[in-house]
Amino acid sequence: MVVAPKSHIPLVHDLINPFETALAQYERATNRLQLDENVVEYMKWPHREFTVNFPVKRDTGKVEMFTGYRVHHSTVMGPSKGGIRFSTNVTLDEVRALAMWMTWKCALVNLPYGGAKGGVLVDPKALSAHEIEALTRRYASELIPLISPHSDIPAPDMGTTPQMMAWIMDTYSMTVGYAVPAIVTGKPINIGGSQGRTEATGRGVVVTMMEALKRHGRNTPGDIRVVIQGFGNVGSHAAAHAHDMGYKVVAVSDVYGGIYNANGLNIPSVRSYVAETGGLTGYPNAEPVSNDELLVLPCEVLIPAAMEGQITEHNAGDIQAQFIVEGANGPTTPEADDIINDRGIVLVPDILANAGGVVVSYFEWVQDLQAFFWDEEEIFRQLERILIKAYDATMRTVEEYNVDMRTAAQMTAIKRVADALMTRGFYP
Ligand code: NAD
Repeated sequence: MVVAPKSHIPLVHDLINPFETALAQYERATNRLQLDENVVEYMKWPHREFTVNFPVKRDTGKVEMFTGYRVHHSTVMGPSKGGIRFSTNVTLDEVRALAMWMTWKCALVNLPYGGAKGGVLVDPKALSAHEIEALTRRYASELIPLISPHSDIPAPDMGTTPQMMAWIMDTYSMTVGYAVPAIVTGKPINIGGSQGRTEATGRGVVVTMMEALKRHGRNTPGDIRVVIQGFGNVGSHAAAHAHDMGYKVVAVSDVYGGIYNANGLNIPSVRSYVAETGGLTGYPNAEPVSNDELLVLPCEVLIPAAMEGQITEHNAGDIQAQFIVEGANGPTTPEADDIINDRGIVLVPDILANAGGVVVSYFEWVQDLQAFFWDEEEIFRQLERILIKAYDATMRTVEEYNVDMRTAAQMTAIKRVADALMTRGFYP
C-alpha cells in the first residue's frame, strides 16, 4: 500500500483536495503494477516546489502582494512541462496535483517531458490590462531560475491567455538578451506560436470522444447530445469542433451558470454572443440552467471542461450521460469514479482526453527549437495520430488488467516513467 506523504507534505485545500485525489489515483494504479517499492515512493513526491510572494503596483498607486507557485513533479522523462493558472482557487496542493497529472499525461502520449504546473492566486478579471501585464511579467521574472527551454516550459491554463504567454516570452528574452520563443508554448503565432495550439485541447477532447463513441458503435453524430461544463479555451473549442462534426451540443456553461436547448445550441452564435457580452448569461433561444443542473441533464456525452472536483459522490449517481470525456484536469473524485464505473458509464480520463493541448505545445516547442514551422493540416494529422495511439495503449491495459480507463491510462503512464527511472538509476 502506498502511504500518502502527508507527514511531510502538508495538504492545504478547503473542500475537495486535488492532491489527495491525485495520490488516491496513484495508489490505485500502482497497486496493480508490479513496481519496485522505492520507485513507487519516489514518483509520488513533487520533485521541486517554489512559492513566491511578489508585489504589483495597482493603477491607484497602491502596492498589493500576490502569491504564486511553480511545482516540478518530475523531470525523469525530460524537461518539465505544464501550464500556469491564474485563479482565486489556486493552492499549493492544487498545483502539486496538476503537476503530477502532467507527468502522467506527457508519458501517456509519449512526449519527452516531465510534469510541472504553476499558479498565481488572483482573479485576472479583477485587474486592469496594465496590472495583469505587470503581474504576469513579475511572476515570470521570479520563475527565471526555474524555467528555460531545456528545463521547464510553461503554457496557458485556466485564466491565462496567449497574450500572457507572449509577456512571459518577452520577459525571459529581455533578461537573457535575445529572443527565446521556446521558453513558453501557447504563444501567439506571430512570435513563434504554433498553428492549431489554441484549439488543440478542445479538438483533442472531441477526437477522444469520437473514438470512445466509435468503439461502442455510436456512429450517428446527429443522435448524440453533448453537454459541456466550462466555456473557456477547452470548453468553447470542444463545443465548436463537436458542432462542426455534426454532434448536438445541447448545453454549455461558464462560472455564472449555463444555457440549455434540448434541440441543440447554435454554437457559432453562442461564441459570437460570448465575444460580444463576455458571458453566456442572457443568451436567447435557450433556458438558463445552474452548473449543478447542467451536470445531470439528459445527454449521451458529458464533457466537464471547467475545473477539478465537479463530479463527486453527491452527483455521480444522477448523471444521465453514458460517456464522460474529461476536458478539465481532475474533474472527478475517486469516490465518484467508483459510482461511475459501477454504473457502466464510459469515462475517458483527463490525462488522455485533454492531452491534445500538451501534444501541440510539444509541436510548438519543437518548431521553435528548429525554427521550422508546420502547417495546420500537419499539426492536426499528427495530433490525431498521437491521441489514438495513446487511446489504443490505454485500452490494451484495460484488457490486460481488467481495470477502468483512468486506472489503465495512469498505469500505462506510470510504468513508462518507472522504467525510465530504473534505467537512469537513483542519483548519486
Ligand atoms: P479557461 O480559463 O479558458 O476557461 C475556464 C472556463 O470554466 C470558463 O468558462 C469559466 O467561466 C468556467 N468556470 C470556472 N470555474 C467554474 C465553476 N466553478 N463552474 C463552472 N464553470 C467554471 O480555462 P481552460 O484553459 O479552458 O481550462 C479548463 C480546464 O481544462 C482546466 O481544468 C484546465 O486545467 C484544463 N486543461 C486546459 C488546457 C489548455 O490547453 N488550456 C489543457 C489541458 C487541460
